[in-house]
Amino acid sequence: MQLSFKQVSHTYMGGTPFEHQALHRVSLTIPTGCFAVVIGPTGSGKSTLVQHMNGLLRPTAGEVRAGAFHLTPKKNRTSLLKLRQSVGFLFQYPEHQLFEETIKKELMFGPINFGVAKEEAETRAEAILPKVGLSPELLPVSPLQLSGGQMRRVAIASILAQHPELLILDEPAAGLDPEGREVILNMLYEYHQQHNQTTVLVTHHMEDALRLADLVIVMNKGAVFLSGTPEEVFSES
Ligand code: ADP
Ligand code: ADP
Repeated sequence: MQLSFKQVSHTYMGGTPFEHQALHRVSLTIPTGCFAVVIGPTGSGKSTLVQHMNGLLRPTAGEVRAGAFHLTPKKNRTSLLKLRQSVGFLFQYPEHQLFEETIKKELMFGPINFGVAKEEAETRAEAILPKVGLSPELLPVSPLQLSGGQMRRVAIASILAQHPELLILDEPAAGLDPEGREVILNMLYEYHQQHNQTTVLVTHHMEDALRLADLVIVMNKGAVFLSGTPEEVFSES
């Protein structure tokens, strides 16, 4: 799924100060199959940017295109639902959102919610666990019995089981030690290599961008400060 932003601005209302413009006229294109990495300091607009990619946020001005979907300041509910069926969005600390009785049910929840038949959801649940380095023996186990790192993997697997055309990862390795980070990011990268879904990764770590990205987007103060291949971006800074 190709993504493009045309002159997208976003203003939050009702905070302190009352109006805060978090994105200023952002234009960018992320081609189908691209692994894009968004970096920048805290508060630079990374989360706000990626929340426009599945319609969690709507632009205050400008236009977002995600595949066939258009997001503009005007509301349009039907297309939003369809868009979300094609986009997997992994929030920070996703393990806090595990709530089913068993890992299997957890992995089936997303696909079923998006209209996949029960049998197919079951097949996907069984197939996805090894891809995140966990044994199928864990399927009947409660997610609450897992270690933190394992819970993170199940949460990631539950998004991958939706077979998203676009995968958005907001700091998927936040809070993990360097070894845990490496494992999670390598796993996500390998999954991308196999399935070629368009992927957008938000990270604080420059070295992740250098190592993984086809396209690096450097945010600063709500604007795109630099974008290009890792070579292009890091030779200028
Ligand atoms: P990160 O920088 O790690 O992405 P933030 O601390 O910016 O996370 O934001 C965490 C959550 O708090 C997000 O859901 C964001 O929308 C919300 N948030 C951040 N800043 C504000 C604010 N000034 N007022 C209200 N909500 C905020
Ligand atoms: P980042 O992900 O790069 O840390 P964010 O997109 O979370 O940046 O935030 C960009 C700016 O918008 C920050 O100044 C933040 O405080 C503000 N912000 C984020 N969410 C909200 C919100 N819900 N209400 C008001 N301000 C917000």
